[in-house]
Amino acid sequence: MKILVTGGAGYIGSHFVNLLVSKNIEAVVIDNLSRGHIEAVNKNSVFEKVDILEYERILNLLAYHKPDAVVHFAAFAYVGESVENPLLYYNNNVIGSYNLIKACKEAGIKKFVFSSTCSIYGNPESIPINEEQKPDPINPYANTKLAIEKILNDFDRAYGIKYISLRYFNAAGADPNGLIGESHLPEPHLIPIILETALGKREKVNVFGNDYKTLDGTCIRDYIHVNDLASAHLKAIDYLHNAGESQIINLGTGIGNSVLEIINRSINITGKKINFMVVERRKGDPAVLVADYSKAQNQLNWKPEFSIDQIISTAWNWHQNPKY
Ligand code: UDP
Repeated sequence: MKILVTGGAGYIGSHFVNLLVSKNIEAVVIDNLSRGHIEAVNKNSVFEKVDILEYERILNLLAYHKPDAVVHFAAFAYVGESVENPLLYYNNNVIGSYNLIKACKEAGIKKFVFSSTCSIYGNPESIPINEEQKPDPINPYANTKLAIEKILNDFDRAYGIKYISLRYFNAAGADPNGLIGESHLPEPHLIPIILETALGKREKVNVFGNDYKTLDGTCIRDYIHVNDLASAHLKAIDYLHNAGESQIINLGTGIGNSVLEIINRSINITGKKINFMVVERRKGDPAVLVADYSKAQNQLNWKPEFSIDQIISTAWNWHQNPKY
């Protein structure tokens, strides 16, 4: 089997490529390296530096490599940046993905796994969130992901491209081997920010609000280990391989942790002092996001393996000695 992975130099993509290689599955990585890291690309994969906006090159690569499936991670993924610069997001995420999906149609590739997001749900109606909840994005980033899901749905109906759209909750953690991990510039995510504070790289963690209707007043999120996300993608490919119908599937653990809980667990795991200060709420943050992942369990035979403490400790292992 051969899988073409866009964004394979990025955080989640690189963990997925490692999984493919560990299973002796051929991996072709496409990345423009604008935000990914060449050091993250598995040496036993084929690497092609190309942008998904380059339609002809993408089409040629698909025709040349003839992958059994495409797994599409490449995207810009900063909510704040998408609000400031929606043009960048619609161009890269929507036009780029449209190019890729169109090239798949032209090249006769009919299996597609897409990296989507729980932010599509906006402010959820109820918790835990299942796939029946109506999408209601509240920022351009989530709008772009929903637009791509709609393109996939239309291309399935008209051209028979079968897809799985995986709506991730909060990706976190790093491969326990310590060779790859999360490295964003700037870093907007809670766990890396906490660990950089533990390392003395930051003075303190700003806690965005403690007046939410939660037990300790801080926001609750469903943190899921990046290798659990990777394994779900492989199961999605298996599912499509067995002639499964297109599906939209949540990926989370079903367990929520508040910002203060994450800080306290991180203090225990690192043994370091972690200063924090409560500041204003961050705009657009729902109080609670927790997944109902029963569809992933039923359709993909997948379940998460990593606990929140393992998420933090693998991230800690990486952040103490990042390779890029
Ligand atoms: N958060 C925080 N301080 C930070 C970064 C994040 O309090 O410096 C909170 C944020 O409000 C949210 C949670 O941590 O409730 C996770 O945020 P992150 O940006 O990691 O992921 P998101 O939920 O936005 O995808």
